[in-house]
Amino acid sequence: MTKLLIVESPAKAKTIGKYLGSEYQVVASVGHVRDLPKSNKKAIDMDHFTPHYEVSAGKEKVLHEIERLAKKSDEVLLATDPDREGEAIAWHIAEAVNFGDKPVHRVVFHEITKDAIVEALGHSRNIDENLRRAQEARRVLDRLVGYDLSGIIWKKVRYGLSAGRVQSPALRILVEREREIKAFKPEQYFTIIANTKTSEKAKLPLICSVEPKEQKEAERIVSVGKNKLWQVVSIEESEVKRSPRAPFTTSTLQQAASTRLGFSPSRTMRTAQKLYEAGLITYMRTDSTTLSKQAIGQIAGTIEKTFGKDLIEIRVFTTKSKNAQEAHEAVRPTNANLKTAGHSVEEKNLYSLIWARTIASQMKDARTMRTKILANIISNDKKDIIPDFQANGSRTIFAGWLNADPGAKGEDIELPKVSREDKLDLIDISALEKFTEPPSRYSEAGLVKELEARGIGRPSTYASIIKTLEDREYVTKEGRSLKPTDTGEVVSTFLEDNFNEYISDTFTADMEDKLDLIAEGKIGYEKTLSDFYKPFAKDVKAKEKLAKATNLGDANPNLKCPKCGSLMIIKLGRSGKFLSCSKYPDCDGALLIDGTEMPKDKIIGTHPKTNKEITLKNGKYGPYVEMPTDETIGKKIKKPKLRRASVPKEIKPEEVTLDQAVHFLSLPRELGNHPETGKMISANIGRFGPYIVHDTDFRSIKKPEDVYKIELSRALEILKEPKKKRGFTKKKKSVE
Ligand SMILES: [Zn+2]
Repeated sequence: MTKLLIVESPAKAKTIGKYLGSEYQVVASVGHVRDLPKSNKKAIDMDHFTPHYEVSAGKEKVLHEIERLAKKSDEVLLATDPDREGEAIAWHIAEAVNFGDKPVHRVVFHEITKDAIVEALGHSRNIDENLRRAQEARRVLDRLVGYDLSGIIWKKVRYGLSAGRVQSPALRILVEREREIKAFKPEQYFTIIANTKTSEKAKLPLICSVEPKEQKEAERIVSVGKNKLWQVVSIEESEVKRSPRAPFTTSTLQQAASTRLGFSPSRTMRTAQKLYEAGLITYMRTDSTTLSKQAIGQIAGTIEKTFGKDLIEIRVFTTKSKNAQEAHEAVRPTNANLKTAGHSVEEKNLYSLIWARTIASQMKDARTMRTKILANIISNDKKDIIPDFQANGSRTIFAGWLNADPGAKGEDIELPKVSREDKLDLIDISALEKFTEPPSRYSEAGLVKELEARGIGRPSTYASIIKTLEDREYVTKEGRSLKPTDTGEVVSTFLEDNFNEYISDTFTADMEDKLDLIAEGKIGYEKTLSDFYKPFAKDVKAKEKLAKATNLGDANPNLKCPKCGSLMIIKLGRSGKFLSCSKYPDCDGALLIDGTEMPKDKIIGTHPKTNKEITLKNGKYGPYVEMPTDETIGKKIKKPKLRRASVPKEIKPEEVTLDQAVHFLSLPRELGNHPETGKMISANIGRFGPYIVHDTDFRSIKKPEDVYKIELSRALEILKEPKKKRGFTKKKKSVE
């Protein structure tokens, strides 16, 4: 009896292979095997929202291999990941491969350990139609909404922009915060600090318990305090308990890895995936905080061995999980006794974080003693009344769970020993002028927390939502904060004005709930999609009549066009907002958004081969270099043409050297002729970044591909891949 076990990743196949006997053969599908085709018309049959899948490029080979191996086996087991995505991959494999009359079963495990796999093999089942339908509903919904919303944004805002069902609500949250920050009016207040000494000469800094808004009052307190004797009014001590937090879900793992390790959510997920595939942690996509009985038993054993039996406290964390039936457990080590694990430094760090959180969750509360000393001046004069000053201290008196997670401890603040009515010597007293701060921008982890709280997205989507916003250049990272770009703000404002309902929290959260209900088999696929899509499509159609939103409002009327003196209007260019002459296109006068002059053209030098002058210029879509070339037909010079190339975003225009300019102008590069059509394939950088083009087939290329180095063979591979999104098919490149 031989069995074929199919998983999606080679690393996972390798780990599983170690645990299973020779009657099992383990093979990897390497991710998805089928997907929706690029063309929207072909992708979904709108009568019943039936998707038409295509085998993904390069996957025919994989499917043939699976079929070949299946022929030699007695049973096929689909062991893809334990969530809807995994269920869908299993289903696609079963649909795309001809397994003949071989029995095909699904096995599900949440950790890649021998016990879990053996247990799962004993409980194989059929593919869960509801789970995979829920995944299909998400895919179809996102395709339809993304396609329609992006389409209208192309027409009404700017070509090439995008919008999406979950991406746009996330962007709106960031833009709303940005508006709050802009609207914020800082208010003045004063912090008053009195530095004192005890009779034992120990320093005791005190802060006024009231922060006056008026400078006069602050000055009064300082002047009253300055000339008086001080004494301790009271000492309050209180014991505070600190309980450990629940074991990690996807969201809390992303948050903790961000604060403690500085990881972005996508880096956390990538690293966690490696740990999971190596069999070291349980499945990392979960919103459950539950630990299995078995796991708790093992954790308790580890605590006893490492910290002593007295520190064990078994706790049950209730899960607010939205899809509790699918998510079985929190993210935890598969072997609690393993304190460190992983190959790379980042794997080791993330593993330690998961270990600490899991172990700590089953340990006793920590206890902290908080001390508050109040002090004031000694005076009987009613005019001299000032608020109490205070000092706060804290020290850990029982570490409890902090033994397992010392990173969560924080510093002790020790205060000098004093008694009531002890005299204090004043060293100095002063008032510091301060201003209230606007709300802060979201960090990536903060946004994940917010999305979860609002019910937008699910463990499988948080990281990709944020990555999409960054890839689309709707947000930039300033330190750890996410700041919407001008483009992000314009797109969000357009959607809020015109599609407010569809990008609202309630709508998006409600749709996630509906997808969960499909997964539970409680509502139907077709009706859910049709109830949503029919009114949505009608709304989109109605907005076709809107005027193009190229005008983002009038500029300050004091700012006049530098060329003709007309009024100016605000527009959106590639590098953000700028001011354009209201007479455009008759006049092309423009200013930077702050009303200053556009950077002037600058001669960079002479091209060593052509001897032509290279100029750095600034266009609507960013800085570029330009050089005249002679276009010749036969012996006649046709007319001098201009060769242009964008300056890549990562390079500051004012720092472009001659060598770099020559390098940029090596584009477009001719890579060679296509073997089938005989037409030239070339590589270039356009308004939307680097691309290759064959005939009219434009394909954007991303790192690690290098537009200056990419070769014909690689370009042919890329052209063979199905197109993912609407790319460069309609307009031609422009670096104007
Ligand atoms: Zn003008």
